[in-house]
Amino acid sequence: MQNSIVSQSASTAVEQLREKLPYTLKPLANIAYNYWWCWTGDRISIFRNIDPEAWDRLEHNPVAILKYADPNRLSQLASDPTYIKRVAKVAQQFDRYMNEPQTWASRVAPQISRDRPVAYFCAEFGIHESLPIYSGGLGILAGDHLKSASDLGVPMVGVGLMYRQGYFRQRLSVNGWQEDYYIDHIFEDMPLQLMTDDNGEPIVVDIELRQRRVHLQIWRAQVGRVNLYLLDTDRDDNDPIDRWLTGHLYGGNQDTRIAQEVVLGIGGVRALKALGITPAIHHLNEGHAAFSTLEVARQEMIATGKSFYDVEASVRERCVFTTHTPVPAGHDAFSGDLMESYFSNYWPQLGLDQEQFMALGARRLGDPWEPFGMTVIALRLCRTANGVSKLHGEVSRKMWNILYPDSPVDKVPIGHITNGVHARTWTAPLMSDLYAQYFGEDWSSRMADPQVWAKVHEIPDEELWWRHQLLKERLIAYTRNKIRQAREEAGEDHYWIENANQLLDPNVLTIGFARRFSTYKRGYLLMHDTERALRILTNMERPVQLLFAGKAHPADEQGKRILQRLFEWSRQHPHLQSRVVIVPDYDMYTARKLIQGVDVWLNTPRRPLEASGTSGQKVCFNGGLNCSILDGWWCEGYQEGPDGKGLNGWAIGEDAHTSDQDLQDKIDAESLYKLLEEEIVPLYYDRDANGIPHGWIRMMKKSIETNGQAFNTDRMIADYVAKVYAPGTAIDLTQLRSSVLA
Ligand SMILES: *Cc1c(COP(=O)(O)O)cnc(C)c1O
Repeated sequence: MQNSIVSQSASTAVEQLREKLPYTLKPLANIAYNYWWCWTGDRISIFRNIDPEAWDRLEHNPVAILKYADPNRLSQLASDPTYIKRVAKVAQQFDRYMNEPQTWASRVAPQISRDRPVAYFCAEFGIHESLPIYSGGLGILAGDHLKSASDLGVPMVGVGLMYRQGYFRQRLSVNGWQEDYYIDHIFEDMPLQLMTDDNGEPIVVDIELRQRRVHLQIWRAQVGRVNLYLLDTDRDDNDPIDRWLTGHLYGGNQDTRIAQEVVLGIGGVRALKALGITPAIHHLNEGHAAFSTLEVARQEMIATGKSFYDVEASVRERCVFTTHTPVPAGHDAFSGDLMESYFSNYWPQLGLDQEQFMALGARRLGDPWEPFGMTVIALRLCRTANGVSKLHGEVSRKMWNILYPDSPVDKVPIGHITNGVHARTWTAPLMSDLYAQYFGEDWSSRMADPQVWAKVHEIPDEELWWRHQLLKERLIAYTRNKIRQAREEAGEDHYWIENANQLLDPNVLTIGFARRFSTYKRGYLLMHDTERALRILTNMERPVQLLFAGKAHPADEQGKRILQRLFEWSRQHPHLQSRVVIVPDYDMYTARKLIQGVDVWLNTPRRPLEASGTSGQKVCFNGGLNCSILDGWWCEGYQEGPDGKGLNGWAIGEDAHTSDQDLQDKIDAESLYKLLEEEIVPLYYDRDANGIPHGWIRMMKKSIETNGQAFNTDRMIADYVAKVYAPGTAIDLTQLRSSVLA
């Protein structure tokens, strides 16, 4: 898109696939290589219909399904008039989307031009389950950011790493202990294109790591109108150790970590240059990419002949930063020794000595033992910095006041833009279809307009309810199937394999809890008083069931123990065996099923450690209700009536905050039990003669209305345009238009 030579030269893989396909199916080749398909129109089913069984086996990878489809089946579809029409329609929509002459961004912020796009750097991207280079919320946010930027027409490219084995996969042993394993990805079978030059040779950029040259090649994933460039060190001409640098996401020690961050930051800036892309703005999404500021400076020094300190101001004009971590220990910082071994040849290129160089990343100047902080250098060399919710902005200002000793805390230059989710990815088609009926066909292109959502109250209760119930049944069917397979593979007893078919009941109040199993998220809180929890879950008239999912980082023994405790609890008690369920190997697909099907989404972080959280936002678009600690985004989302009760969900744990963690757990668990016993369960089971819970549905509608308009990435991208990318741009959210209609 930015450079026609480059996009031509990456197209061989598409061409090869196109050649293979029968005439009427040829348009599918282009569509398979652009993740646009996964959030629009006919989406998934056009690929799934080719072979539903293979679709699941190939983890929903559209390139692989076309590549390995039975030719007989392809001929059959190629001569099926109905299928041909669907393909033609999707192809036409795709064409129109990709070639739209005017977009929202081109109208309101024409200064961000296609020649000088925003380059968005991140260590992980969650675009789709078939591109497993994400671990959790940070990656999902990055993926959603690119999708909405594409839909709104903000010129953008993404920069990340292409991990040979991605993030680890999770299996649970018969004892409930998490086993980690890895799968090799075959990039040639994925919707990725290797960037090549005019001679068909891969475009390669070099970096230096510990006195060794490392060659990086570049894969391109297309995300609508946004190209995502992913760097890969797995080349024959690299040292075997370096080939594994991009092997795993967050897999290694400090040494691997700094090397990966050099690849991302310095390699990323060099890769863009090699591709002929000159970004107007480098957006560092979290500190991992902060070395890019140094390379931006170095390139400018070469171009202008100026010194580092003379280009500093202009580097700052071109770099912006989003921080995601509310605790000091969560910010990457590298020791002086480690920095020396990676940068001793680099700082002379910046005309700096060791001391000057290390000072760029030091929290306290003049302290030779200060490590090199990635957030520190990002704050020093970026024009703007923001946290990801209002509360997180406050916490960050306090935490980084140390860098601005002359500023009072409220003048520390870190603002906030609250996260959202790409609702077109996360809303179940069954719900989108309902919104299209009641809000208008164009609802999803006007998502930040409150008037769109106000119409939710016109939806008949019955209609919203049966759709919600169907999604819940879908979740239960999916869960049973997945757990049965997992138990078979783990070699469980016949009893447990059979038991999988009995798990969960669509008529029972269903609570979901799924996310990374980090300790601060307190996946164990519901079990704080196991007797009381048991009484709530196994109440004869008004039972409750729980779904858990999530991975603990391979090195996080504590997280694994929490998972195991949940597992044991679910099996110890005969009455819990069908009521407490752990879905293994959490990924974006399982996430969609869960957030679309639950009644209540539970989040219990230790405040203020949840910078934003986004999974609860996904739930809102599907009619589920949040029950959460007032942390991250929920501080802004939650609304209370004059009686102190929630209007659009529930808030756990009064406003009592203590640094005594055990006491805090006790207070919060007590509050959670009380909410369940006195509000949530009674409201859910309060039914009319037809079994419809009108009070509950009123709350669902309120949640859809209030949260839908605020916590979507279209609104978030508009905020980034107005505050960060093109500061001063006046934004009228009612005029926001994303290009999602055919
Ligand atoms: C949305 C999402 C997350 C984020 O979870 P939070 O609870 O918001 O931290 C993590 N993992 C996956 C797979 C997701 O889809």
